[in-house]
Amino acid sequence: MSTTARLLNGNPIRDQILTEVRQQLQEAAGQGLRPGLAVILVGNNPASEIYVRNKVKSCESLGIYSEKLTPPESVTTEQLLELVEQLNRREEIDGILVQLPLPPQVDTKRVLEAVDPAKDVDGFHPRNVGYLVTQRAGLVPCTPAGILEILRRSDIPIKGQRAVVVGRSDIVGKPVALLLLHEHATVTLCHSRTRDLPAVCRQADILVAAMGRPAMITAEYVQPGATVIDVGINKITDRAEVERLFPGNARRREEVEAKGYTLVGDVNPDSVLPVAGALTPVPGGVGPLTIAMLMVNTVRAAGLRRGVALTAGVA
Ligand code: NAP
Repeated sequence: MSTTARLLNGNPIRDQILTEVRQQLQEAAGQGLRPGLAVILVGNNPASEIYVRNKVKSCESLGIYSEKLTPPESVTTEQLLELVEQLNRREEIDGILVQLPLPPQVDTKRVLEAVDPAKDVDGFHPRNVGYLVTQRAGLVPCTPAGILEILRRSDIPIKGQRAVVVGRSDIVGKPVALLLLHEHATVTLCHSRTRDLPAVCRQADILVAAMGRPAMITAEYVQPGATVIDVGINKITDRAEVERLFPGNARRREEVEAKGYTLVGDVNPDSVLPVAGALTPVPGGVGPLTIAMLMVNTVRAAGLRRGVALTAGVA
């Protein structure tokens, strides 16, 4: 048993995947194809603005055509449906991403269902969800797909292993549980009503934490030697909270003093690192993979929809 877990750094894995995407883009260019992504960003949510900026930047650095559409906060469901329909009809747009959350007056499910499943690079359309459940070729949600890439490319065995996923959202928990199941893990999906969560988690060879609860997973939840995947991204600004979660951690304290916040996953690394076999850091673990997998999905959607076989890399 290790005394300090191996850190599963997402950045080199992201770079490796983006290199493969570049190869595919060269292959596509040779066949006269330039994939295109349209991102719909409603209103002025600061976190969404940052996510969208990074997605557009990533497209630009790879040479994927990208377009940002920015309807106002007051947009109606009907107006968004019309916008999505226009994008569905445009030949040069291969991927359509509707940045969530949408404002409360908008029927999010209707908007997501309006996206052409062939252009649904987030993998949220019920048709792609059905394809995932039944293991047909489709578009898979980016963060769960990224988690699988981390495990595979870090040589973490999945087949026959016990996997416990904490969090049952449509975006992370459910799809990652299905992907692990399809890789032949024995999967348990937990949520806020799970009885004796620490005991269930301690059964895991692979533990995925996706609850949005800062530093909740401590050593008590972790089997010695387990691989722990931390999906959470939480900003802690309160100094007393930082001291409570990370007593005596000078780096955290200094970070809050300097930046006004510290970024925390759903796992407490101070507590878990001495017990786990491997752990994804926050930041720099799962996060970098999410945008990389969006690029993979965009190129994949372009190839599938336009009938161009792209063989290089992962997609
Ligand atoms: P979500 O939709 O809020 O779902 C949270 C899930 O966690 C729910 O199923 C909930 O259970 C469960 N949960 C909440 N508190 C719990 C507790 N005390 N014990 C057990 N289960 C609990 O969250 P999400 O969208 O899946 O996101 C989860 C986290 O991942 C967030 O921190 C988010 O910021 C992060 N995230 C990161 C990325 C990335 O790129 N790295 C991408 C997406 C999300 P119930 O269903 O019973 O309510």
